[in-house]
Amino acid sequence: MTDRLTMQDPRAQYPQPPFPRQPQPVPGLAGKMDPQPDHGETSYKGSGKLTGRKALVTGGDSGIGRAAAIAFAREGADVAIAYLADEEADAKEVVVLIEAEGRTAVALPGDVTDEAWCRTLVEQTVAGLGGLDLLVINAGHQQNRQSIAEVTSDDFDRTMKTNLYAMHWIAQAAVPHLPAGASVITTASVQAYDPSAILLDYATTKAGIVAYTKALAKQLLEKGIRANVVAPGPFWTALQSSGGQPPEAVTKFGEESAYGRPGQPVEIAPVYVLLASQEGSFINGEVYGVTGGAGIA
Ligand code: NAD
Ligand code: MG
Repeated sequence: MTDRLTMQDPRAQYPQPPFPRQPQPVPGLAGKMDPQPDHGETSYKGSGKLTGRKALVTGGDSGIGRAAAIAFAREGADVAIAYLADEEADAKEVVVLIEAEGRTAVALPGDVTDEAWCRTLVEQTVAGLGGLDLLVINAGHQQNRQSIAEVTSDDFDRTMKTNLYAMHWIAQAAVPHLPAGASVITTASVQAYDPSAILLDYATTKAGIVAYTKALAKQLLEKGIRANVVAPGPFWTALQSSGGQPPEAVTKFGEESAYGRPGQPVEIAPVYVLLASQEGSFINGEVYGVTGGAGIA
């Protein structure tokens, strides 16, 4: 593969479907995906945009969160990653990559559907990094259900707790620690604007994340803190192969995009870096789509 920054046709830059059938239990592991996603492990090059910053990335073990965590460390930040205990294998790889940059890594295994853990993980970040000024709330749960009749209360509850309640608990615990200049970034989805029939509960939470973040941005700017949303389109992550999509849909994932392929996590990392860094100083309360041309309006 040519260097990712070499000028080239972006449609042909990364793997295209068909992909092998690869169902996994929840939570899925990036390490079990075929082809392996590009989270920037060897391809992301930093340039000191986040020197000395202290970041927490939830869901930083894999997928979009891993790409953000790697990019932040390459840009000079110390990084704490939160993830589920079952994802230790993925998380260990990220810790090694952060430490390889000479930065501090903090590993925070635990379940964010537990309010007490959400508050504890923020405190452990502050203790481990000596503060907190970049907060990426990115952990998410997605489960496909063909019909409204199949969305049980437990299903609905899990999606709401992971995607909405945890966001609120973590943000609420973090805000008192954030200094002027800090940045909060949430991960919504194109699903907030163009929901799939099979993602009733998930799409609802993603629209909620957009509204919450825009409201929070208004509050936080009074303290000199910015908050923004990233809205990804289809990205090649374990979220999809672990029940986010039906297994057959994963073999064709990204096919319907104008690119004919899904995005790779490293392709969204620069947006997290921009929103995190002081270069994004006039960007607040915005939603950044990275959808491969699907648009978010
Ligand atoms: P991913 O599975 O790699 O990351 C999601 C992470 O969420 C997991 O790694 C896990 O650590 C964390 N998580 C889930 N439930 C948790 C819980 N109860 N406690 C603690 N952590 C928990 O997949 P991803 O696609 O990188 O997902 C990251 C974000 O991107 C999610 O918010 C997802 O909704 C969003 N997103 C993904 C896509 C896509 O196509 N992949 C598209 C739009 C939005
Ligand atoms: Mg994971």
